[in-house]
Amino acid sequence: MNSKMRFCPQCGSDLIAVQIDGRERLECSNEACDYVFWNNPTPVVAAVVEVDGKIVLTQSKGWSEKWYGIVAGFLEEGETPEEGVLREISEELDLQGEITAFIGHYKFPERNQLIIAYHVTAEGEIHMGGELQRIKLISPEEVHPWKKGTGPALRDWLAGRIQEKSSL
Ligand SMILES: [Zn+2]
Repeated sequence: MNSKMRFCPQCGSDLIAVQIDGRERLECSNEACDYVFWNNPTPVVAAVVEVDGKIVLTQSKGWSEKWYGIVAGFLEEGETPEEGVLREISEELDLQGEITAFIGHYKFPERNQLIIAYHVTAEGEIHMGGELQRIKLISPEEVHPWKKGTGPALRDWLAGRIQEKSSL
């Protein structure tokens, strides 16, 4: 539950906690207003980007030096997830990518997001976009997926890759 939401965005009245179908929701206290804050998860697209056999890890501005993630971002209005993830790769890395696989979708309750993850291959020279402060290319053998957020997508992609190799 997002505790920062206190007032109705439609009429400005206080929001109050109510039970709807067994879940607590914030509802407008004004009888004449029907606003309910549903707090539905926001879709986020993410990509394990592979360039010359290495994975691109990104560090956004303001992150600790030890922290890296993979390319991820919100969809723009009207975009499919595939269009959105390729746009993010273009903005953050200045690369034209090609989607090679859908990895899966992952819940991220800490941020109330649904992560939609792809494997994307790209070629060329990376130019870092304005939202990043550092990037790192790392071989799949060396990368250690993190526990939350986009980490499980990276973990699953790595697991599938090992499986593919062992079946050859
Ligand atoms: Zn209201």
